Amino acid sequence: MSRKFLLCFHDFSVWNYQKVTPILEELKELVGGPFSLLVIPDTENASDDAVADFRATLAKLKSEGFELALHGFKHKAEFSQGRSYAGLVGMNLTGGEAEFAGLSEYESSRLLQAALESWKKLFADENGNADAPIAFVPPTWFSNKFLSGQVRVEKMLYEDRFSLTTAEGIRYASPVASFAGIPKIAEKAAIAYAAFIMKLPVGLPRLAVHPVDFPRLRDVVRDTIRVALNNRRKLVHYSEL
Ligand SMILES: [Zn+2]
Repeated sequence: MSRKFLLCFHDFSVWNYQKVTPILEELKELVGGPFSLLVIPDTENASDDAVADFRATLAKLKSEGFELALHGFKHKAEFSQGRSYAGLVGMNLTGGEAEFAGLSEYESSRLLQAALESWKKLFADENGNADAPIAFVPPTWFSNKFLSGQVRVEKMLYEDRFSLTTAEGIRYASPVASFAGIPKIAEKAAIAYAAFIMKLPVGLPRLAVHPVDFPRLRDVVRDTIRVALNNRRKLVHYSEL
C-alpha cells in the first residue's frame, strides 16, 4: 500500500473566496493536483452579485477537480439552550466558532439540515439538483454525541480531530497538522509535529490549511507539503478512502 496524505483547505466562503482562490491555484501547482476544499455554505448577508460570483467560482474549482466538502453552516455558534457544558467550553476555546459543540440531538440535526440546505442552494443546477457533499467536517472539529451518526445518515464521510469515518462506517486513524488558532508559543511545536506525521512510515495524515495561515505561514504550509511529497506520500481525496 502506498503512503497517502490529505490536503484540506478549510473555511472557504463567500467572504474570502476572492482572496483565497489564487492561494488554492498556487498550492495545486505545488502538490501536483486539486485537493479537498472545505466550504462554509452560508451566504446570508452577502450581496446577490457576491453569491453569484461565489457559485461560479465553486463550479469552476469543481470542474478543475477540487473535492468540495461541507464545513459547518455559518462557522459561528448561535446561542442555544441545547448546548452542554462541554460544548460551552468548546465554544469559548475557539472564539465561538465551534457551532456544533455539545448540541442536543435536535439542535445538531437542525443545524446540519440548515447547512445542507445552504449547500443545495450553492450548487443547484437549473433543475434545482445538487450533488451531496462528499464529507462533513465540523468547524474546529468540536462536536457532539449525535453528529457523526447524523452525518452518516446523509451518506457523507465524517471527520473529527483524530479520525475519518466513511459513509460505510470504515474508520481511519488520521493525525492532523494545523497552524491556525494556536498560541504563538506552541507554533514551533505544531510545525515540527506537521513534519513528523508526514514522515511517519504509516498512517493517513492530514494537513489542514486555513486562510489565516496566509501570507504569514505560507512557507511553512509549502514546506509541510514538500515533506509529504518527499516522503513519497500521494495526495488522496476523501472520496478515495
Ligand atoms: Zn473551519
